[in-house]
Amino acid sequence: MIIPQDKIDDIRERADIVQIVSEYVPLKKSGRNHIGICPFHAEKTPSFTVTDEKQIFYCFGCGAGGNVFTFLMKQENLSFPEAVRTIAKRLGIDIPPDNKPSSESNQRELMFLANHVAMDFYHQNLLTSPAAENARTYLKKRGLKPEIIKNFKIGYAPAGRDNLVKFLLNKGISLELSEKAGLLSKRDKDFYDRFRNRVMFPIMDVRNRVVGFGGRALGNEEPKYLNSPTSPLFKKGEVVYGMYQAKNAASKEGFVLIVEGYFDLIMLHQYGFSNTVATLGTALTVDHLRKLKGYTKEIYTLFDSDAAGKAAVIKSLLMFLEEDVHARVVLIPPGLDPDDLLQKEGAVQMTQYIQKAKPIMDFFLNSLKSKLNTETSNGKVSFLEESAPYIANIKNPAERNIYIEKISNVLHIGPDVVLSTIKAAKNTSFGKSMGEELKDRQRNTPTANEIIAKKDSAKTEETILKILLAYPYLYNDSVNSAVDMFNTDFLKEAGRLVIGVLQQKSSKIEIASLVDAAHDDKVKTWLLKHSVEDDGAIKEEPKKILEDCCRKVLTETRFKKETSLLLKKLAEAEKRGDINSFKTLSESYLSKKRA
Ligand SMILES: [Zn+2]
Repeated sequence: MIIPQDKIDDIRERADIVQIVSEYVPLKKSGRNHIGICPFHAEKTPSFTVTDEKQIFYCFGCGAGGNVFTFLMKQENLSFPEAVRTIAKRLGIDIPPDNKPSSESNQRELMFLANHVAMDFYHQNLLTSPAAENARTYLKKRGLKPEIIKNFKIGYAPAGRDNLVKFLLNKGISLELSEKAGLLSKRDKDFYDRFRNRVMFPIMDVRNRVVGFGGRALGNEEPKYLNSPTSPLFKKGEVVYGMYQAKNAASKEGFVLIVEGYFDLIMLHQYGFSNTVATLGTALTVDHLRKLKGYTKEIYTLFDSDAAGKAAVIKSLLMFLEEDVHARVVLIPPGLDPDDLLQKEGAVQMTQYIQKAKPIMDFFLNSLKSKLNTETSNGKVSFLEESAPYIANIKNPAERNIYIEKISNVLHIGPDVVLSTIKAAKNTSFGKSMGEELKDRQRNTPTANEIIAKKDSAKTEETILKILLAYPYLYNDSVNSAVDMFNTDFLKEAGRLVIGVLQQKSSKIEIASLVDAAHDDKVKTWLLKHSVEDDGAIKEEPKKILEDCCRKVLTETRFKKETSLLLKKLAEAEKRGDINSFKTLSESYLSKKRA
């Protein structure tokens, strides 16, 4: 069913955008606003702004913006009604349930519930069931303490085909949806437990909701690790295991440690490295990085030091550069994984390895150097060619220069040579983002004529709207007529939206509500940006500026109308061969142009 508009308004008015955004993005107070690192694009200095007063967010870096609903939709991949319901639920506002069984939001909620019930089932089994004796012994042997087992809600999925099925049925949980969440499998018409005789690691999202599970085989079953299949809640390449438990420590410590496996993660937490997260047997992805970077300035990789581990680090280098995330590589002795290392050498030793972590670029250059003979000119050339594309992708020019000097020292060649190789790399295939960016820019760049024709009028139009947003009570009929004459289409639409509100009810513009009505992204972005931004220039005499600008728009329009009419008449006179009319018309045209 459709949620009534007054409900939506009520929910939006009662929700606190600062509080909701804070659950995902650490925010700091800055003047009247709150700022943080944008979760929607790569950045190091915060340009993501949330205003308490207007209940909107806007990123000056990438232009993402909107109200509390828009934020949840983007952040959690929700539809509009889902976002509204999610917030309503937190506020305890009752919305009649969506009776359509296919309703997505309903299904998600029920799948979360199924996962939660399953987590409790597995966990209780591990703690108390006699059948879980082997699992308990196994975890003890691996060195896990009871507290960590409780903290991470580790469990045991019993052997047998339908223990969980029966439990879920008893609790009134839909088996269809449990199957969709990846807990069960279905053959013909029957449901079976997907995970059997396995140690179970529930995987939580940042809000502590169970999105999936990883199951470690106790016997020799294959696969050794069985993860939940891809589901509406679980996407393997996006999930950061341990994020919920690590997020506070990560923002306190200023860096996050990233490991590959479940036991590595658990053991690091057990030894006090609470800022540790894990990828789930997959390589690090851009989605992982984007989830992490709101919480931390730096990422330390802590992988096995075998060849595969090193290759994984180098493979992720470009991604770190493109996302502009600082990364360091923790090197541990070969043949040990972090879990072994902790149990053999302890936390103090681990801390030392972590403190010695090298920036990922240095790690890369070192491994390149050990691979090539940089004494020969062939070796030098290969070194330059292989490193240049990476150096070219460093976003900060000062940092780039540090590496240009380093390479010049390693190869004993002039920094100018290094620089020109890097410049060349920037323009070729590898620096694709650069090339594409350039092409985009060319495609979107208006011609000089367009700029000259539009610049002044757009500026006047923008000023009118800015004043209207800041001082809505100044609205009058001439503003209305001026907006009708706007040349710039999206400004005209923005103006109509604002005026629509002013004509309807109040002398107040609820921007958070207005953006839901704006269908054009450009309109939305413009409105958000200028509601957040403070334009000092209009503060002095808003009333007078508004009058002047409106007059300007109206005069220009009249002028344009008149001249185009004259031109038309002129052409007709020329066609008729009416030389007298032609002369007078062209004189008045020219005098108008000069005026
Ligand atoms: Zn942004």
